[in-house]
Amino acid sequence: MDHFIYKNGVLHAEDVSVNEIAAKVGTPFYVYSTATLTRHFTVFDQALEGLDHKIFYAMKANDNMAVLRILAAMGAGMDVVSGGEYAKARAAGVPGDMIVFSGVGKTEAEMRQVLEGGIRQFNVESEPELRRLSRVATGMGKVANITLRVNPDVDAKTHAKIATGRSEDKFGIPMSQARAAYSEAASLPGIEVVGIDVHIGSQLIDLAPYRQAFTKLAELTETLRADGHDIRRLDLGGGLGIPYQRSNEAPPLPVEYGQVIRETVGHLGCEIEIEPGRLIAGNAGIMVSEVIYLKHGEGRNFLIIDAAMNDLVRPAMYEAHHDIVPVVEPRIGVDPEPIDIVGPVCESGDTFAKQRPMPPLDSGDLVAFRSAGAYGAVMASEYNARPLIPEVLVKGDQFAVVRPRPTYEEMISRDTLPSWMES
Ligand SMILES: *Cc1c(COP(=O)(O)O)cnc(C)c1O
Repeated sequence: MDHFIYKNGVLHAEDVSVNEIAAKVGTPFYVYSTATLTRHFTVFDQALEGLDHKIFYAMKANDNMAVLRILAAMGAGMDVVSGGEYAKARAAGVPGDMIVFSGVGKTEAEMRQVLEGGIRQFNVESEPELRRLSRVATGMGKVANITLRVNPDVDAKTHAKIATGRSEDKFGIPMSQARAAYSEAASLPGIEVVGIDVHIGSQLIDLAPYRQAFTKLAELTETLRADGHDIRRLDLGGGLGIPYQRSNEAPPLPVEYGQVIRETVGHLGCEIEIEPGRLIAGNAGIMVSEVIYLKHGEGRNFLIIDAAMNDLVRPAMYEAHHDIVPVVEPRIGVDPEPIDIVGPVCESGDTFAKQRPMPPLDSGDLVAFRSAGAYGAVMASEYNARPLIPEVLVKGDQFAVVRPRPTYEEMISRDTLPSWMES
């Protein structure tokens, strides 16, 4: 459930009319709903009630400072994948002991940065990373808490670009090598083993792969404990999917996911860590765009809008579906007609939807892309020298720009000229 609904025939973000925001900030733009973000965090928290658990928001889904602050204020920790994310999490007020550091390619500089600033644990993804981390930590007179990310070789049955738990994916250490890796970890002076980590992919719409992976994790926990390792935390990753296509998708609910966690690893007495990203932020945001032209092609019509693949890349990158709705509710009895919805960028990939049934729309009308709060603004670029689009946060009847649109002057002045060029 989210807080983007029609009131008096106009799409609202909580109690604010999307038309009103558009008039103030100009299109295109993202809008996030505070009530939806807090609701999603609470739903996860309740799904794990009774289990010793912590929620680390995977901030790569949406790292706007205002979003981070809302979640941090509710007690969320952060799952970070870079030094930049760590810095942003700290700036949002998250203490180091509520931050976990994931990622396949942590650099020495990043290791130093987070060991210096404080970190709950590293989710280590390979033996070379383990050795380097031990060396860096020892050099600083510190010991790094680690889990090893294991690859359980299960198919998350999601888009190939966001499946991460199959043996051919680059992530984690194969289950078969886990015992050897843990034994090496235990022998390294800069390392303290605290648990096991797994993350099998994103946008999962079925619980079966979770059940398989967590069952393997439970077995591994017992094996490693028998080997003498103190496995006290299980980081189960993120990945729970959201309904992008509301008419025919019903992914599992967090409470059902929580039940799978209880049934598979609940008996182990471990602290449970989860890293949801998309499910917290995805349906808490929309992207709003204005129709520039309605173009009649041969046997096909095109709605050319002022948002493009650089603003929301998911359709071009993952063939992702976003529901697209008119901001002014269509009159009852108006028949939708199939149309291609495209952006202005010079690439055929700049197509948001093909032959999508839409009510009649024309120049100046606004449309909203639902479920655009995760992997939207964070993946945007200024390709075609199109300024990053603003982000707006709504709370009840208030709204504020939480990232302004850069001016052309700001964009131009980011580049610097070499001294040998005449300015
Ligand atoms: C991306 C990622 C997540 C979050 O995935 P969602 O699908 O957004 O929930 C969690 N953990 C790790 C290690 C990730 O890479």
